[in-house]
Amino acid sequence: MAKAGKNYRSVATGDIQKLGRVTFHDELDLTGSEISFNELPAGVSVPFVHAHQQNEEVYLILKGKGQFFLDGDEVPVAEGDVIRVDPAGARCLKADAQSPIRFVCIQTRAGSLVQFTQNDGVPAEGKPSWL
Ligand code: ZN
Repeated sequence: MAKAGKNYRSVATGDIQKLGRVTFHDELDLTGSEISFNELPAGVSVPFVHAHQQNEEVYLILKGKGQFFLDGDEVPVAEGDVIRVDPAGARCLKADAQSPIRFVCIQTRAGSLVQFTQNDGVPAEGKPSWL
């Protein structure tokens, strides 16, 4: 299922419609984040409210709709929404009664990003067949 090269690891999860919850920290040897695919069936909630000690989380809603409890607010969320939560934020996600909700959650240490995109990318050796 996983592939690895000198500077990469990949995993083929197959049909994400059937995955449920899959975490990638171990299979990809992630060093700066934890990433997971998640699904809550219609009407189902994460069974607890939680916060984090060091990690912020970004939730990318891929499909469906639901309610996000965020520090006492109950916010409707739907496909295409992206939500960032500080480590201390109390959070809990629930799928709407008629709609499962599928999302990616990315955890990274809050305050750890010092450069990104064009500020971090550099030209590298090699050329793919399509260039
Ligand atoms: Zn969390």
